[in-house]
Amino acid sequence: DRVPMRRALISVSDKTGLVEFARDLSARGIEILSTGGTAKSLREAGLTVIDVADVTGFPEMMDGRVKTLHPVVHGGLLALRDNDEHMAAAATHEIGMIDLLVVNLYPFEETVAKGADYDTCIENIDIGGPAMIRAASKNHAFVSVITDVQDYAALLAELNANDGDTTYSFRQKLAQTAYARTAAYDAAVSTWMAKAIGEETPRRRAFAGTLAQTLRYGENPHQAAAFYTDGSNRAGVATAKQWQGKELSYNNINDTDAAFELVAEFDPAKGPAVAIIKHANPCGVATGASAGEAYRRAFDCDRTSAFGGIIALNTTLDAETARAITEIFTEVVIAPDATDEAREIFAAKKNLRLLTTGGLPDPAAAGDTFRQVAGGFLVQGRDNGVIRPADLKVVTKRQPTEAELKDLLFAWTVAKHVKSNAIVYAKDLATVGIGAGQMSRIDSTRIGQRKAQDMAEALGLAQPLTQGAVVASDAFFPFADGVIALADAGALAVIQPGGSMRDDEVIAAADERGLAMVFTGQRHFRH
Ligand code: 5GP
Repeated sequence: DRVPMRRALISVSDKTGLVEFARDLSARGIEILSTGGTAKSLREAGLTVIDVADVTGFPEMMDGRVKTLHPVVHGGLLALRDNDEHMAAAATHEIGMIDLLVVNLYPFEETVAKGADYDTCIENIDIGGPAMIRAASKNHAFVSVITDVQDYAALLAELNANDGDTTYSFRQKLAQTAYARTAAYDAAVSTWMAKAIGEETPRRRAFAGTLAQTLRYGENPHQAAAFYTDGSNRAGVATAKQWQGKELSYNNINDTDAAFELVAEFDPAKGPAVAIIKHANPCGVATGASAGEAYRRAFDCDRTSAFGGIIALNTTLDAETARAITEIFTEVVIAPDATDEAREIFAAKKNLRLLTTGGLPDPAAAGDTFRQVAGGFLVQGRDNGVIRPADLKVVTKRQPTEAELKDLLFAWTVAKHVKSNAIVYAKDLATVGIGAGQMSRIDSTRIGQRKAQDMAEALGLAQPLTQGAVVASDAFFPFADGVIALADAGALAVIQPGGSMRDDEVIAAADERGLAMVFTGQRHFRH
C-alpha cells in the first residue's frame, strides 16, 4: 500500500551533485522543500523549490541557527503514517508529510582541520541538520534519509527499481548510515572541544570512522574486517593512492602503516631512508646515498625475513630502487611519490602493490591511539617522542665518537618502531641486527646478534656486522647481562633510557668493556 515518494526536504552544505540529483527528483514529480542556500542553488539551476521558511511561517534566523527547527518539519518527518492519531494531529496542524530527507551537515570537521578559531568552530556546529537526520532515521519505517552525497545515485536507482518508492531494507541501511554520521559528527565536536579546553582525559569519549574498504578478512581468514578512515587525513596508508596490484589486506594495511610511520622519522632532506617490515616489525632499515643503496643496505640486514615484506621509502621511488625491489617477492611498496620509470618497472609485477602518499606524516605530531581491551578501550597520545643530541646524557667514562653518536640516534629511532623488548644493532646508519617482541631483553639481544651472524655467513663476511656496531634498547637494561652480551657481540656503544634500579651495575659493566653509553631519559615501549 505504499505510494511513490511525494515530498523531499533538501538542506545541504556540500552542494556537490545537488542540482542533478534534485532535477531527477523533480522530474519524478517529487516536491522539494529547501533551506536558504540550497533553495538558491536549485532556483538558479531553474528548479522549482518551496522555502522551508514559507512552510514554517518563520524566517531563518539567528545566523541560521534556527531554520528547520519547527513542528511542521519535525512532524512531517516523525509522523507514523499508519497511526490514525498521528495523521489526525498532522491534519489539525496542517503538517505535510516529508518522505525523503537529504541533509549534509555544516562542515565542522573541515573547519577544525583548517585551524579555525573557537567561535568559528562553534558556529559550524550544525543543530537543525542532525535533529532532522535523527528524526527521519527514527522514522525509517516511512522516511528515507540521505546524509552522504555518494548515496544520491543509490537512491535514484532504488526509486527506479521500486516504482518511485524505496524498500524497507534500503531505508534501514540509510538510517544506520545516518546515525553513524550524527554520532561521528558529535564525536568530532566532543574531541575538538576536549582539546580546545585542555581536557586530555575527558570523562566520556567518542570516536567514529568512515568505511574506506571492506576487507576480505581480518588477521586470519575466519575474521570479518573492514578499514575505516578517521578524518584526520594523516599521510599514510589511509590516504594513499594505489597504482597497481590487488586490494590491500588487513595485515598489509597494518604493516604498511608501520613501515611508513618508521621511514617518516627520517628527514628526506638529510637523505633517503628505507624500511622493510614483516609482521609490523622492521627486518631492515637503512639510509643511503641513493634510495637504491638504502634499500640494498636495509635488505642486507635480514634477507631471509625481507621476503614477502612491505617496503617504505621516505623519498620518491626511482627506477634503480624499483628494479632492485623486483628482484624478490614484495607485497607492498609505499613512498611519497614514484617516478614514471619506476612505475613502469613495477607494472610487470602484477601482484606488487604500489602506494604513493604525496608526503610524509609528521612524526612529532600529536594524536591519539586506541587499543581495545575486554569491556573497554585504552587511549593514549601517539608516541611522538623525538630525541635530539642535546637530550642525551653520557653515563660512561668513554664518550661516543661523532660517528657512533649518529648511529646511536639512528638505532634509537628504529627501536621506537620495534615491538618490545626491542634491541637494534646498527652501523653506518643501517640496522645490522634486530631483536623484537621478546619477553626478556637478553633474548632480544641474542636474537639481534644471531641475525647479524646469519647474514655475515650468507654474505661471506669475515665477521658479523655487530662487530663495531652500536645498540639501542627501547627500555632500560634491568641487569648487566644484556650489556655484557652485546659487548661480547662486538658492540661499541649503547643508547637506552636508563632508570633501572641497577643502572650502576649496568654502567660499571659498560665501563669495564670500554663501551660508550648514553641515556635518553625516554622509553619507547611498543606492544
Ligand atoms: P543552506 O545552505 O541551505 O542555507 O543551509 C544548509 C545547511 O543548514 C545544512 O548543512 C543543514 O544541515 C543546516 N541546517 C538546516 N536546518 C538548520 C537549523 O535549523 N539550524 C542549523 N544550525 N542548521 C540547519
